Order: sequence, then C-alpha cells, then structure tokens
Amino acid sequence: MKSLEQIAAELQGYDPGALPAPLVVDFLHRMVEPVAELETVAVVDALDRVLARDILSPIDVPPHDNAAMDGFAVRGAALSSDRDTALRVLGTVVAGGPRWTQPVPDDACVRIMTGAVMPEGLDTVVPVEFARVRPDGSVVVPAGAVRPGEHRRLRGEDLAAGRPALRAGERLGPAAVGLIASLGIAQVPVWRRVRVAYFSTGDEILSLGEPLREGGIYDSNRYTVGAMLRRLGVEVIDLGVVRDAPDALEAAFRHAAAQADAVITSGGVSMGEADYTKAMMRRLGDVVFWRIAMRPGRPMAVGRLRQSDDRPPTLLFGLPGNPVAVMVTFLAFVRPALLRLMGARATLPLPMRARAAEVMRKKPGRTEYQRGIVWRAADGSVHVRTTGNQGSGVLRSMVEANALIVLGHDQGTVAVGDEVDVLLFEGIL
Ligand code: AMP
Ligand code: MG
Repeated sequence: MKSLEQIAAELQGYDPGALPAPLVVDFLHRMVEPVAELETVAVVDALDRVLARDILSPIDVPPHDNAAMDGFAVRGAALSSDRDTALRVLGTVVAGGPRWTQPVPDDACVRIMTGAVMPEGLDTVVPVEFARVRPDGSVVVPAGAVRPGEHRRLRGEDLAAGRPALRAGERLGPAAVGLIASLGIAQVPVWRRVRVAYFSTGDEILSLGEPLREGGIYDSNRYTVGAMLRRLGVEVIDLGVVRDAPDALEAAFRHAAAQADAVITSGGVSMGEADYTKAMMRRLGDVVFWRIAMRPGRPMAVGRLRQSDDRPPTLLFGLPGNPVAVMVTFLAFVRPALLRLMGARATLPLPMRARAAEVMRKKPGRTEYQRGIVWRAADGSVHVRTTGNQGSGVLRSMVEANALIVLGHDQGTVAVGDEVDVLLFEGIL
C-alpha cells in the first residue's frame, strides 16, 4: 500500500495549499483499495450491490427462435414479392404452449403469438395487421408486405451462451438484476457491503431535541451525509455530534476505526480552527490537510486511521463544516472514493451540457460548483440558471437546485448562451 506521501509525489502539480479538484479525485483513487471480501446474495437482494465476478450467460437468450409479433409464421421464401400469396392456416402456437411439430408446406402457415417458438423450417412472421383473413379462414399476404426473416427473434441474439452478460465491478441496477434473473441465475457474487461511520464536530452544533440556545445551530450535516450514504447502499454508523474535546474526539475516532471501513466527519478542518479535531486526526492517523482550489469546499482532510491488526486501515474524510460544502465535497470526492472502495468500476457521475441562462462570474484557477436549475425549453434545448445566493451555508439552495453547475478549474466567466457542465441530482442524490 502506497503512503500518502508517495501518492502525492506521483501527482503532477500537487500543492496541498491550492489543490486542483481533479487532483483530489486522482489522489483518492490511488489511496483507496477496493474491499476484497466476496459474499453471495439472492438476486432480489442484489440491487445496488457491486458484482464481484463476471457473469457469463449459461444459456442462449432467447433460448429458441421465436415470434416478435402476433401473426402468421411462414417460410420467407414462399412469399411472392410481386403478387399476393394465399396460405392455409394449419393451427396456432402460443407462447409457452407445445411446440409445432407437423411439417408446414409452402402453401400453408401457422398462426403464432409473440414469444412462441417458431415452427421448424419457418423463418418469418407476417404480423396480423399485414395479413388479410378470408372467410374460409385462409390468409392473404400482400406482395412486399414482409421480407424473409422479419419479425422473428433468433436464438441467442440478445446473448449467446458463454458470452459475458455483466462484468465484475458493475453496480447492479434494476436492468442488471432483471438480466441476471433472465439467465436463470438465482444467486450473485457481490463484494461485501462497505461500512461507513460519520459524526459532526463543533461545540455550537446541537442535536435534534435539544433546545435552540444562543450561538447554537442544529446539526444538518449528519442528516445529509447519512442520507447520501444510504443512497449509495452502504451500511452506516451514526456516531452523533462529538464535542470539541480531546477525549470525546479520540473515543469517536477509535470507535469508527474499529468498526468501519471509512469515517466521515464534518467541521473543524478549516485553517483557522482552534479546535482539537485536526490535532486528533494527526495523532491517530496518516492525514493530509488540504486547501482545495474549489468553491464551495476548500478545507478538507483525508487519510487513514492507524490500525493495530491486519485489517486495512479505516479511510478518513474530514469535510468542511458548511452544509453546502459538505454535500459538494461528498459528491465530488467522497462518493467516487466510496464507490471505488465498494469495488465499482464506474465511480464518476456523468456530466451533461446545458446553456447558461445568465452570466456566471468565475475566476480561472478553481473549480466552482454552483447550485443550478436545469430545464428543457419547448424546442428541446436544455438550459440552466443558478438558484441565486451561492453562500456555502445556504442548504436551501441545494433543495431548490436539481443539478450542480460544474465550472472547471481553467474556466473563466460564463456568458449567456455558453454551454456548461451540469451534474443532475437525479441518480446521484
Ligand atoms: P467549520 O468548518 O467547523 O469552521 O464550520 C464552518 C461552518 O459550518 C460554521 O458556520 C459551522 O457552524 C457550520 N457547521 C459545522 N458543522 C455543522 C453541522 N454539523 N451542521 C450544520 N452546520 C455546521
Ligand atoms: Mg468549527
């Protein structure tokens, strides 16, 4: 395992006093080792888990050639291309019903339902809406209505037996869960769930139920962090609000280190902090303190808590105290790091582009995450405006927003109509 110092030395432009946001992501990617313990879960419990092994299809999907439409199964070569073709109807096959076994001569066809197995020798389905049924029950297929091979699904066309259906590192969503079930697989190998502890620090921070006293503010970070963690599908350990006192902090860090793969704190990492949080982090772990070239955010501590046994160290993410900064640094840095810890291959959200509906003042040399409202105009174009006051304590702005506007490190002021990157909350928050 590389030391934090070694990781820093590998990164070009590493400057802990003004660290570009992309370097933070890179640093954390190098610092975090995915969990290594595998467990097996039932498919119904596999949602949001990370696949630990490739899944090869044990069967052809679909397992037989079958009808893609309700209609009449015919031999494509028996259809005339320049005049109507009349066909006798020999019978009907339905999905899940017995297979058609009798021979079907060229002047005949079989009525077939979607999903039913194609009778031997027939390769084309004439959809009901294209066929004319005559009073004697036979059907007429107009010239050119259907080409040979149409409206039939081939055995193995979705997935051939032995082909990879899903790759290790896939975070299983509803479609993946369905795909696994469609292969007849009931149990899935996944990486074990990651356990994350979190607490808030600061003597001004009040827990719910306490009366609001002079100088106190209610703890919101523990609720946003806990909620974001639950969305990620990790196990959470809420360690409450921890007083700014050495023994209380030490107990909380030791508790977290003994039980969790990672611990997230908020508050107490700013430069001017006179509190004990930073001192305790330094004492109990290998920690780097950064000023990140970003807004909101800026101060952040990351590292590893020392462990006595052979267990991998507990990762430490010391987030700033401001409620919006907590959410932004979580989304930008902690979430990708935790996804990597969980064994996921894809860890970064997918930015979209939207046209700025207002001027966005911005200095090159830092990354800015503004709270945005994205909408689609009648002509289909996608636009974004900010929520107004971008103060890093204004949690309401995160509620009003449906996206973060990400103005990159080198970007300058954005003019009306310029395209900007946006990260839609849907799917990540
Ligand atoms: P700090 O990073 O400790 O200097 O905190 C920055 C700002 O965030 C201060 O105004 C704190 O009162 C506020 N803050 C810190 N922790 C929390 C919390 N858990 N919930 C709400 N606000 C907080
Ligand atoms: Mg503080």
